[in-house]
Amino acid sequence: MSVMEIFETMEYGPAPEAAAPGLAWIKEHEPFGLFINNQWAKPASGQYIESINPATGKQLTKVAAANSADVDAAVAAARTAFETWGKTPGHVRARYMYAIARHIQKHSRLLAVLESLDNGKPIRETRDIDIPLAARHFYYYAGWAQLMQSQLPDYQPVGVVGQIIPWNFPLLMLAWKIAPALAMGNTVVLKPARYTSLTALKFAEIMQEIGLPPGVVNILTGEASQVGEALVRHPDVNKIAFTGSTDVGRSIRRATAGSGKKLSLELGGKSPFIVFDDADLDSVVEGVVDAIWFNQGQVCCAGSRLLVQENIANRLIEKLRVRMEHLRIGDPLDKAVDIGAIVSPGQLEEIQRLVNQGVEEGAVMWQPSWACPSEGYFFPPTLFTNVSPATTIAQVEIFGPVLVSMTFRTPAEAVELANNTRYGLAASVWSDNINLALDVAPKLKAGSVWINCTNLFDASSGFGGYRESGFGREGGKEGLYEYVRPKWETMATPFEELHIARDSTPSNGSGSVQKEDGESAFQDLALGSSDGYVAALPAIDRTPKMFIGGKQARPDSGYSRDIYDPEGQMIGQVGEGNRKDIRNAVEAAHAASGWAVGTTHNRAQILYYIAENLSTREHEFARRIVQQTGRPYADAVAEVQTSISRLFSYAAWTDKYEGAVHRPPMRGAVLAMPEAIGVMAVTCPDEYPLLGFISLVAPAIAMGNILVVIPSQQSPLSATDCYQVLQTSDLPGGVVNIVTGDRDTLSQVLADHDDVDAMWYFGPAEGCKQIELASTGNMKRTWVNYGHPRNWLDPIQGEGEEFLRESTQVKNIWIPYGE
Ligand code: NAD
Ligand code: MN
Repeated sequence: MSVMEIFETMEYGPAPEAAAPGLAWIKEHEPFGLFINNQWAKPASGQYIESINPATGKQLTKVAAANSADVDAAVAAARTAFETWGKTPGHVRARYMYAIARHIQKHSRLLAVLESLDNGKPIRETRDIDIPLAARHFYYYAGWAQLMQSQLPDYQPVGVVGQIIPWNFPLLMLAWKIAPALAMGNTVVLKPARYTSLTALKFAEIMQEIGLPPGVVNILTGEASQVGEALVRHPDVNKIAFTGSTDVGRSIRRATAGSGKKLSLELGGKSPFIVFDDADLDSVVEGVVDAIWFNQGQVCCAGSRLLVQENIANRLIEKLRVRMEHLRIGDPLDKAVDIGAIVSPGQLEEIQRLVNQGVEEGAVMWQPSWACPSEGYFFPPTLFTNVSPATTIAQVEIFGPVLVSMTFRTPAEAVELANNTRYGLAASVWSDNINLALDVAPKLKAGSVWINCTNLFDASSGFGGYRESGFGREGGKEGLYEYVRPKWETMATPFEELHIARDSTPSNGSGSVQKEDGESAFQDLALGSSDGYVAALPAIDRTPKMFIGGKQARPDSGYSRDIYDPEGQMIGQVGEGNRKDIRNAVEAAHAASGWAVGTTHNRAQILYYIAENLSTREHEFARRIVQQTGRPYADAVAEVQTSISRLFSYAAWTDKYEGAVHRPPMRGAVLAMPEAIGVMAVTCPDEYPLLGFISLVAPAIAMGNILVVIPSQQSPLSATDCYQVLQTSDLPGGVVNIVTGDRDTLSQVLADHDDVDAMWYFGPAEGCKQIELASTGNMKRTWVNYGHPRNWLDPIQGEGEEFLRESTQVKNIWIPYGE
């Protein structure tokens, strides 16, 4: 036999990692308990659930099934621990977190073996990706614990955090959740997924080992219906951080609506993998392997839709089939295995069901010729061609090793096809033309964009979704804000104490005598005749209409609503908006989406111009505030001047809220770019009719959003007076649309609207709850005040980065370099 022949017939021999240390650890710890207050507790129910090895289908062990009594105990432990941990200096927390990272590394082999046994993923992945990346998160966030005081001086921890994670990256998802929470001084109760608890339990043991104060981390294994739901509904939990499916995310949004619990949701995806004809096809093939066959395709950001430029499609598909024929499936503990087992029989059935549906829908299915192992839950890598974009397999997250491919002709078509999904988690772009790749990246609606790479993650770089892939980010500095809230929020600021005390003898606003600087504030309403007689002229009736597409539009209802001053006198009328007006406004907003791609310089100029035009009418606007609120004139002037200053602030921020360049451990850079969210609905507060309006509109448009605004229901005239200011300030028509009328009726229509991407609501607590409930239709991002008024005059409460963060979503663009 020649060397060449030997070489060609060479087979991989098995190279198994020993299961024994993992199995021994399991035996030593049976029966597993719940981890509460750094101790192992028996579950209140006395029940245990089976934990299986998906590669054999056999039971590995049993873990405790917690119920709501255990949740109560864990939350109480976390609450008590928070009293101290929340005040523990950052350096002390950093030391604990550093110790956690070190201990994950010390136990890394055992953790990798346990993860592969429990989840079915190849040891190559657990050893080289899951476990090292989990350690990296604790190192990285130990740094933020250390820096919190200097870098986030105006923030405090949220409190007790409930964390719920999926089974696809058990320890890694735990690290993504626990590391930032502890860094910011929170305590946690974490629920692992039902099928994959073992590494979380090993992690609990590490908490004991390093001597973390009791109650800071609590881990409850069990069923979603027992543990998950109780955690979500628990009144003493201040935040829920969830990673999992969009359906469950939706139910959690509903369950927490109106409760004031902070919420972050990392949900599903159907991410595009876009290949242009100038891409290096051999790299592309390896990229596809990592995109969809990594972790058996059970990856939220899996590149599950292959979009190929038409002229190279056949060539790429042919190469892919050859590569698929050589993929190795089998024992996850075998170091030479590429594809392991699917996590559970249920998941396997679901994949098979969707694949069958794909065939029924007329797509062409291809699988390699080799057979999967006969025991355990395995599914072969699968490729669909001849897929049409509207079919189930092109739209639904399969969460398995199944790739669907479609073709496009032009870059514009590629973008359109890529964005043709309800999700927006990730995208990957392959081209050797950097100009093309960087032109396409900002057009993709996705939280992560990988250029000539895929499925890269690092603690330094935020991860999270657009659209129905959820909201909030994990990783990076942006991930910290999910675990803090402004310090002022605990300061009691009852409504009465705000600077809106009403004048004891209010001006009736109808043209009388109040003097400012020796000048009648209303002299423009008086007309002198030649014989010296001065008559008070009635003002010319001005009934503002809606402001839609840059023009005044009659209300669809044909009705007006009366506006009263605090004494009950009618001071004007505005249009009575309805569903149709809102729809028109949303449509006009969409038509103005070019606003986001204009230059930041241009947006800043327009904000300055709005400020300038407002200042020339300062007295008129002040009088309007007096008229609507009965507040003293000087107070009203202060409101107008603060509004002008606020416009200046956001004009300033427009070209300074720029994002960051991350340097993860690779050759390359990650551009973290805050992007506009899109069409936003804004419901303004009743306090401060002008300043409330400006404080919300200015940051949102500064960041490139297009708006539908409902002004203060009680005092809408300050906003409607702005029509002319906006029209004469070069603001393109449709960027700000204003619909007056009943606050909650109109807000409900906006919250239900699927073409609205985010909603802010500053109103009564019940309204806030309704908005959060309604937002689940398209999982729009919401920001509500739970009925607590802000002091809008205060620059800490009324303006700043909080507003800019709520106006943007961060996209991380990964750009590796080197040949
Ligand atoms: P899942 O939604 O079924 O479960 C996730 C977790 O929520 C589990 O711990 C489960 O027990 C718990 N849970 C289920 N119902 C609950 C309820 N009503 N109340 C409280 N908790 C409940 O998802 P899964 O099958 O475990 O994971 C797969 C999904 O997760 C996929 O859709 C995937 O895209 C998504 N995922 C997203 C990310 C991300 O970062 N965006 C990462 C990994 C996975
Ligand atoms: Mn398992």
